[in-house]
Amino acid sequence: MTATDIVWHEHKVTKVQRSTLKQQQPCILWFTGLSGAGKSTIAGAVEQKLFELGHHTYLLDGDNVRHGLNGDLGFSDADRVENIRRIGEMAKLFTDAGLIVLSAFISPFRADRRMVRELVEKNEFIEVYMDTPLAECEQRDPKGLYQKARNGIIKNFTGIDSEYEVPSAAEIEIKTAEFNVEECAEQIIQYLKDNNLIFSS
Ligand code: ADP
Repeated sequence: MTATDIVWHEHKVTKVQRSTLKQQQPCILWFTGLSGAGKSTIAGAVEQKLFELGHHTYLLDGDNVRHGLNGDLGFSDADRVENIRRIGEMAKLFTDAGLIVLSAFISPFRADRRMVRELVEKNEFIEVYMDTPLAECEQRDPKGLYQKARNGIIKNFTGIDSEYEVPSAAEIEIKTAEFNVEECAEQIIQYLKDNNLIFSS
């Protein structure tokens, strides 16, 4: 028995049925941006708003996933790719469950983000670029990580000594240095409404 012998099982209850029950179009809001750009903060605020509107969501957060499912992975190039691949597969399953998935990972490389985009159906992957200048992130430094990276205590830190590849065509761009948390979250909710991803009967 090898992996190629395994066939996807088509179950009776479909993704469309599950999501119709929830009055939403399943999708992945893939937040990307520098550390401190506001991914977790805005993803959390959007999830809260969606909850209040009666929608079913799941938030995948970088640090939390690394504690569990991806606890065996480090920060080498190969492990970073595998980290994103597993998260992508997990997000795909949650999408199949009919959920609106929010993911908050730096995901600095275009190729990795494209890999996840290609895992799911067209229009299901919504790239949300947290367009926050490095200087602003470094000033916020909510976890003290930039300080450590500048002092050489942390190596391969995105934005300092590891590259961040800016998305060339993100579906949503959020300028967190210009708008407050509430306004940023509302811009994303508005996108979901404008594109008929959330609706009410
Ligand atoms: P990331 O998940 O991208 O590493 P976090 O959400 O953990 O970033 O941290 C962002 C920090 O910036 C938080 O301390 C948050 O309170 C602060 N912040 C200030 N203004 C904003 C804004 N408009 N949007 C998001 N975060 C903001």
